[in-house]
Amino acid sequence: MRAIEVIGLTKSYGEIKAVKDFSLSVESGEIVALAGPDGAGKTTLYRSICGLIDFDCGEVRIMGHDLQSEFESIKQVMGYMPETFSLYPDLSVEENLNFFAGIFGVKREELEERKRYLYEFSGLAPFAKRRAQHLSGGMKQKLALCCNLVHQPRVLLLDEPTRGVDPLSRRQFWEILKQLCKGGTAILVATPYMDELRHARRTILMSGGRKLAEGTAEELIASYKGTVFILPWLPPAQTIDKLAKLPNLNFQRIGGALRIRAPQGTSLDDLSGQLLEAGLEPTDLKQVSPDLEDVFVDLISQEPGVSANA
Ligand code: ATP
Repeated sequence: MRAIEVIGLTKSYGEIKAVKDFSLSVESGEIVALAGPDGAGKTTLYRSICGLIDFDCGEVRIMGHDLQSEFESIKQVMGYMPETFSLYPDLSVEENLNFFAGIFGVKREELEERKRYLYEFSGLAPFAKRRAQHLSGGMKQKLALCCNLVHQPRVLLLDEPTRGVDPLSRRQFWEILKQLCKGGTAILVATPYMDELRHARRTILMSGGRKLAEGTAEELIASYKGTVFILPWLPPAQTIDKLAKLPNLNFQRIGGALRIRAPQGTSLDDLSGQLLEAGLEPTDLKQVSPDLEDVFVDLISQEPGVSANA
């Protein structure tokens, strides 16, 4: 079933068009990731889909119901975890769950069963009596997710739920999402982390309020038009600044290495020649396979006013 359907949604704040003619769909049992730079319009899109803000034009359907005319039917099937979800810091894990169960109108006789289920799959049971303010960042995010699951939503909208969370907790968080997905929940999740995109069935890349690309990781990588190289060491900062002025090349520091994106068909010899001319001896330079970040940097750098060198 098509759980989330957005058709031609546009939302402006005065002169700023935050979301432009945006369409997407998510099936039940599917995880779709939304990626894009800060200010891409992700939060505005989420708020529009949840009915928290009015949009200029377009259509949103949740589990077949029209957002604008059937909001009451939608409320019960939707969970939304904003980027800064507010737990009650002075309340314990259990009290937070009880509180959100009350807000969502979960019946008392169902609540204990729901809590048992949420504790089990989130691993929060041993911390039930701990105040939310004393949880680690990863645990807080898991609790925030559980608070949004207490009414068993069929559609989950998550705005960067793993931002700032340590890598192990991020992995656990995604395992939870996959379990939910197996149970038929539709999930639209925004993430700033490229490595997380492989967990989603499809990824949508958004920038400047528009959809730049959509597909599976394999499809997006296959669409990449360019050649990628790695210099496994970092030249001095002044040299990198000089290299950044070379036309048609993109340089990115990744750990202790320099990732270099060049136009399609550039050979190792071509690039070595260009780097030598710019004063860099490219010892151990090698060509590598492109990844999703290469695709995104390439697409985003074609946007007006964006420089992708870093
Ligand atoms: P971030 O992850 O940094 O929050 P985002 O992808 O969620 O970015 P939005 O917060 O939706 O992007 O912002 C999209 C654009 O709309 C930006 O240019 C932003 O400055 C602008 N914007 C967002 N909210 C408002 C508002 N309430 N009033 C005016 N402009 C806004």
